[in-house]
Amino acid sequence: MSSDYTHHRWSHLKKILERSGPFCRPDFEPSSNTLPFLMEKCKILVIGAGGLGCELLKNLGLMGFHQIHVIDMDTIELSNLNRIPGCNVVAHFCMIQDKDESFYRQFHIIVCGLDSIVARRWINGMLLSLLVYEDGELDQESIIPMVDGGTEGFKGNSRVILPGLTACIECTLDLYPPQVTYPLCTIANTPRLPEHCIEYVKVIQWPKENPFDCIIDGDDPLHINWIYEKSIERSIQFGIRGLTYRLVQGVVKNIIPAVASTNATIAATCATEVFKLATSCCASLNNYMVLNNLDGIYTYTYEAEKKSDCLACSEIPREIELIDGNIKLKEFIDLLCQRHDLQMKNPGLTVANVDGKNKTLYMQTVPSIEEKTRVNLGKSLTELGLTDGMEINVADITTPNTITLKLKFKNTDIEMA
Ligand SMILES: [Zn+2]
Repeated sequence: MSSDYTHHRWSHLKKILERSGPFCRPDFEPSSNTLPFLMEKCKILVIGAGGLGCELLKNLGLMGFHQIHVIDMDTIELSNLNRIPGCNVVAHFCMIQDKDESFYRQFHIIVCGLDSIVARRWINGMLLSLLVYEDGELDQESIIPMVDGGTEGFKGNSRVILPGLTACIECTLDLYPPQVTYPLCTIANTPRLPEHCIEYVKVIQWPKENPFDCIIDGDDPLHINWIYEKSIERSIQFGIRGLTYRLVQGVVKNIIPAVASTNATIAATCATEVFKLATSCCASLNNYMVLNNLDGIYTYTYEAEKKSDCLACSEIPREIELIDGNIKLKEFIDLLCQRHDLQMKNPGLTVANVDGKNKTLYMQTVPSIEEKTRVNLGKSLTELGLTDGMEINVADITTPNTITLKLKFKNTDIEMA
């Protein structure tokens, strides 16, 4: 590879790395060692190998990054694949949750090309948990920068997150609209859209008829075909037009339409930010770039602010204000899922008992515990012994860490009575 350094292929990078300029950061030192560092030492993790992730891999390879790991739970679509000579890419075919702290700690920078908000939140929580504080001071060495790209059709965004220093994913959670779901009553009784018919077959008809004796596999054409035929029947019954095989695929797999040029633009800005972070050759994006190509081409950049009471990066327990303790545990859990600033998925709740031991209020993810704690769902918080000011520990798939919520009852009189 050493002949590679002298190769004209890298001459443009060398112009940036081996001489100074007006846009360089004050701590930048021109050096012929930087390119070898990028190629041999600097370890980058790319999360997601879809349209965005694959574009990122190619860009990073061409920017001199040759020690790249990529993690995805899906296999790569052939149409997304680019090949870069000389690049050492290690693939991890698993969920990000399958890897632990020691895996993530080995990287210099993490880049996300994900379509899942839950996965983004989880990796955000993981990077925050890697931070080391000494006497309340953040150890800068423990920060692993995260560059996050996202696209949806003609829209996209790129952002740079320095965990512990700048706004994290949870700080700006309200930027993500809750995922589209259709009310069950509409799906069952008054369908108006082809999507309603598909959802009906997916949510109600499939479990009832269980045609293939398994859960739906969005990649199995037999499954999609079955859903397609049943959805057509239903759409005819209700006089709904526009139901296509592609739409069935889209709804079942929750596919966000991809526009190659949006992916290319966002991947390019993300790769540039990784390059800037790794080399200090230029100031980083501060810190959120929006791209909107729906009507013409529009972009702007602003500084997303760190939230002083962020659940993930502030270490301050979030207060949950309730009228009193009469709310049922089931309603309380629904609240955690619906609130814009929490958007939890399957929260498991525990509380520290008077004797210091942890008591599980409800846990959905472990079947045996779910069965044991299901009875609590119908009980009120007061009946469960929870009072104003108490702290509840919450585990959720959106984060590898336990979150603390503090109960605040507006009306404490009733609870005393
Ligand atoms: Zn935060």
